[in-house]
Amino acid sequence: MADKWSRCQRELRLISPARRGRLHVLVVGAGLAGASAAATLAEQGFRVTIMTLLDSPRRSHSVAAQGGINGAKNYCNDGDGIYRMFADTLRGGDFRAREASVYRLAEVSGQVIDMLVAQGVPFAREYGGALRNRSFGGVQVSRTFYARGQTGQQLLLGVHGSLLRQVHLGQVTLLTRREMLDLVVVDGRAVGVIARNLLHGALEKHGADAVVIATGGYSSVFLLSTNAIRSNASAIWRCHRRGAWFANPCFTQFHPTCIPQFNQAQSKLTLMSESLRNDARVWVPLQARDERAPDKIPEAERDYFLERAYPAYGNLVPRDVASRATRTVVQAGLGVGATGTAVYLDFAEARGRVGETVLRERYGNLFAMYQEITGEDPCQLPMQISPAPHFTMGGLWVDYHLRSNLRNLFVIGEANCADHGANRLGANSLLQTMVDGAFVLPRTLTHELAETGPTQIHPDDPQFIDCLRQCKQGIHQLLQSRGDLTPREIHLRLGQILRAEVGVSRSAAGLHSAREQIAELQQQFQERLLMSGDGQSLNEELERAGRVQDFLQLGDLMCKDALHREESCGAHFREEHQTPGGDPERNDQEFGHISAWAWDGTLHREKLDFELLAPTSRNYV
Ligand SMILES: Cc1cc2nc3c(=O)[nH]c(=O)nc-3n(C[C@H](O)[C@H](O)[C@H](O)COP(=O)(O)OP(=O)(O)OC[C@H]3O[C@@H](n4cnc5c(N)ncnc54)[C@H](O)[C@@H]3O)c2cc1C
Repeated sequence: MADKWSRCQRELRLISPARRGRLHVLVVGAGLAGASAAATLAEQGFRVTIMTLLDSPRRSHSVAAQGGINGAKNYCNDGDGIYRMFADTLRGGDFRAREASVYRLAEVSGQVIDMLVAQGVPFAREYGGALRNRSFGGVQVSRTFYARGQTGQQLLLGVHGSLLRQVHLGQVTLLTRREMLDLVVVDGRAVGVIARNLLHGALEKHGADAVVIATGGYSSVFLLSTNAIRSNASAIWRCHRRGAWFANPCFTQFHPTCIPQFNQAQSKLTLMSESLRNDARVWVPLQARDERAPDKIPEAERDYFLERAYPAYGNLVPRDVASRATRTVVQAGLGVGATGTAVYLDFAEARGRVGETVLRERYGNLFAMYQEITGEDPCQLPMQISPAPHFTMGGLWVDYHLRSNLRNLFVIGEANCADHGANRLGANSLLQTMVDGAFVLPRTLTHELAETGPTQIHPDDPQFIDCLRQCKQGIHQLLQSRGDLTPREIHLRLGQILRAEVGVSRSAAGLHSAREQIAELQQQFQERLLMSGDGQSLNEELERAGRVQDFLQLGDLMCKDALHREESCGAHFREEHQTPGGDPERNDQEFGHISAWAWDGTLHREKLDFELLAPTSRNYV
């Protein structure tokens, strides 16, 4: 296992530099995964087109990542290393990820940090100049590299710089404000996409020798999530409709430390980074509906419930564990705040220990964000936080080469299902985007192109024309709708159903009911959708309607997958499968696999075998 990636690389075929320029790769999505893939492939001599639905790659959702990126460098000399990082990640994902992929993630992590430093990312440093590390959930070492609370932004600036270099060299064509509408598949091979120019509505055909999907995660299926408002599932869903398998759709992560929802008009929720839990302590009053201000509640009348239940990891337990524990205290009536759904995240002890200046130095921009939204200064009063949809471990199925089941279709970053199993550990996602985009894909995609050669299908061929016609028809149908429900109203209702029944915990009864409610909502979408505007200009309502249509189908698949998985693992907690003490009960015998759903409803199971680390029950006590 430990040398699998080295062996694999030795066996992967190469293409000579002179021939690479004749091959064309289309990358859909320009976040960290897509941009790093496009820059690296172009650097190697391939012709690359990259598209994003935003006006600049720099606005991709990756920009919002706050806390950091992991690397097994062991700079703190605290016992870290590749094996430990691999073991933490596999265990953190509750043994529902492919062992070899997880090992590679840890193995390549050091190279990723080196590359980012070389690109000029201003990581936090010690006084003497060495890179500084902090801890994230589910680990007992410090391996997270960070740039204050703006790590994603700084990484994206570095990667964007190398992408622009290739744009200026003419090796990359950058298309902004384009939305991929469909994948063109001929004889089981991806040969291009149909995209819509969002500014004036024109549909475009883009052919390619290989297509890379890097369109991020689908937490916005819940409407209110920590993701960017334009994050969506449409690109991966439309690949799924064309035959790509969708894996583990029910593995969705709720982040425990988000600012609670205040009203129905909100369009997103705001994350307060997990890094805060390095210094802050999570607690609730021991007495239900305690009306006193938090600083008036004495120590003896507080329950530091994570420290109490999980002394070994304390406030830095993994997200699924913290979110479930929060739900338990809230259900017991101990929640705080106007809605009674929040718990406190308190810096008082840390303020006494390291002082306010140091705290502001570490978390300044997060404090400012919190104060702007709530009007309270977290250095003086504890933050109020509650779990919110944040990250999706599910996505299009890929093999060890990041290849979907369709030839020449690759999926990278949060859009795939590869590395995080049933629960992602903090700071491992930025890492995955870079490992996939800059290190793994360039090698495996080269191999695939060496095997398949260029496509013989061109954008003027009937297959493209037919696909374009179907897209036009779909848009036309949507624009005819003159009902009384806006796409947002339907999305809001879908989000409520999913948060209630496919949220932090799930039950068979709730999931069946959710499927019925979603079927009704789909009916309403058909009969009562209210559309405005036309297809020949900027029409955000049309964009939204298309995405909501996909979310409705995806929401149903999430329920179906959650129903099928009769066990509790990671973020997937089935109420029927718990110990008398309320801990999740995994069933390795029957569910030690990745569930990969085909569009026709067939379930493919990829069995998970473990060589290096035998599955054990997770124990953070
Ligand atoms: C608030 C927040 C904080 C986070 N903090 C951290 C952190 O500290 N550490 C960590 O490891 N992870 C963190 N994460 C997770 C991490 O940011 C994401 O998983 C990661 O950035 C995803 O990158 P990506 O390149 O896969 O996708 P994205 O960055 O989401 O990029 C997707 C790209 O695809 C484009 N796109 C989407 N659909 C289409 C379409 N149909 N057609 C054309 N283009 C399309 C988008 O415009 C965009 O360019 C955080 C997430 C959130 C929400």
